[in-house]
Amino acid sequence: AKRLGKDRSELYDSRLHANALASQRTEAALRRAIEENRFVLHYQPIVSLPQQAIVGFEALVRLLDDDGTLIAPQHFIPVAEESGLIVPMGTWVLRQACSDIATLQRVSGMRLAVSVNVSAAQAARHDLADTVASALTDSGLDERSLCIELTESALLEADESTLAQLNDLRARGIQISLDDFGTGYSSLTYLRTFPVSNIKVDRSFVAGIGVRPGDLAIVRAVTGLARDLGIGCVAEGIETPRQLAEVIALGAQYGQGYLFSRPVPVTDLLDLLVPPLRT
Ligand code: C2E
Ligand code: CA
Ligand code: CA
Ligand code: CA
Repeated sequence: AKRLGKDRSELYDSRLHANALASQRTEAALRRAIEENRFVLHYQPIVSLPQQAIVGFEALVRLLDDDGTLIAPQHFIPVAEESGLIVPMGTWVLRQACSDIATLQRVSGMRLAVSVNVSAAQAARHDLADTVASALTDSGLDERSLCIELTESALLEADESTLAQLNDLRARGIQISLDDFGTGYSSLTYLRTFPVSNIKVDRSFVAGIGVRPGDLAIVRAVTGLARDLGIGCVAEGIETPRQLAEVIALGAQYGQGYLFSRPVPVTDLLDLLVPPLRT
């Protein structure tokens, strides 16, 4: 038993070491990427379900590796969060997204919104509202075209200053979405405390429709809650026509997912908005 224990702890130590090495490497790569501005934004459409039309896009960050591969956020966001680099990265994302969508609005002549993910560390800063304000001023994007997405865990750490800044942003017309709804804690308290304008139903619930009996009931309850509160509801992760039909039947106003489009580079957005003429 003693030997086994020793082997286990050695195994544990070597894994820990490997993880530490990996995250050191990622952190060094992250620092470099930030310094060299090597992030890329992809955009995924958010669709009005009654109108079957794109009303906006969610900006999703990727990291450009040394060899030109794009690295998904799950591989570097945790390191960015631990190291605090998430704050300058998040500011870059916000500014780039506002600028990209302001340009797209001008080129397309369409009123389109952009949703930007804001991490807990960003939300905790006293200059959040100023950072948002300067991103809007510098890009020329209208307040009503910007939505910031916060998760319940980001709001878990929110203090009076965060609340005051979110109220200020909301009062100026900026939208606030509660992301991954239903996966965190005390969701309902957040809806009462914070000036939330949209709920995003986590894609695990949408994926569970027709699979786990409870998930249909949960999606129905959340869409009903949003309707009664007079706020928007986005069903995330719609992959199949059946899921689309279900979330429409349940009254979701907006949808997002691979069925409509995967996240795409900014250069592809105009093609999504203007379908080719049928001949
Ligand atoms: P999220 O905010 O929940 O974003 C939605 C994620 O679901 C995206 O993954 C998107 O590609 C994926 N998705 C969309 N539709 C479908 C679908 O139909 N099926 C499936 N299986 N997945 C779908 P992505 O781009 O890998 O981003 C993962 C997470 O990384 C995001 O989850 C968000 O939490 C974080 N993230 C991304 N960009 C940023 C950012 O700029 N700042 C911060 N703080 N976090 C970000
Ligand atoms: Ca999001
Ligand atoms: Ca989400
Ligand atoms: Ca998520």
